[in-house]
Amino acid sequence: MTDTIFAKIVRREIPADIVYEDDEVLAFRDLNPQAPVHVLFIPKRAIATLNDATAGDAELLGKLLLAAAAYAKAQGFAQDGYRTVVNTNTHGGQTVFHIHVHLLAGRHMTWPPG
Ligand code: C5P
Repeated sequence: MTDTIFAKIVRREIPADIVYEDDEVLAFRDLNPQAPVHVLFIPKRAIATLNDATAGDAELLGKLLLAAAAYAKAQGFAQDGYRTVVNTNTHGGQTVFHIHVHLLAGRHMTWPPG
């Protein structure tokens, strides 16, 4: 069981700039954006990290990615492209232990990431 700041956002206990919601997925603008568009897609049902995901979570994880892609397309970023990122644990740079897909768009990304 994880209860993080993102779970509080799901429960509307703290505010967030929500840009998409359905029964299973919530998306809101990152408070510290790293690109002109930086949105976090989270499952309402918390999974701490990608390590904790199981086969039973496959559909939910797919929905996160598809929601991010749909948002990027709707915002006009499909042609130029965008980046989706899942950070895991310390070396991955994860700071909030409620799994999330970062969607970054609106500038040319570099590779490799830092
Ligand atoms: O992948 P990582 O766990 O580091 O990402 C967490 C993200 O959550 C950060 O980009 C941070 O800016 C964002 N955040 C947020 N609102 C909060 C707390 C963190 O947008 N209240």
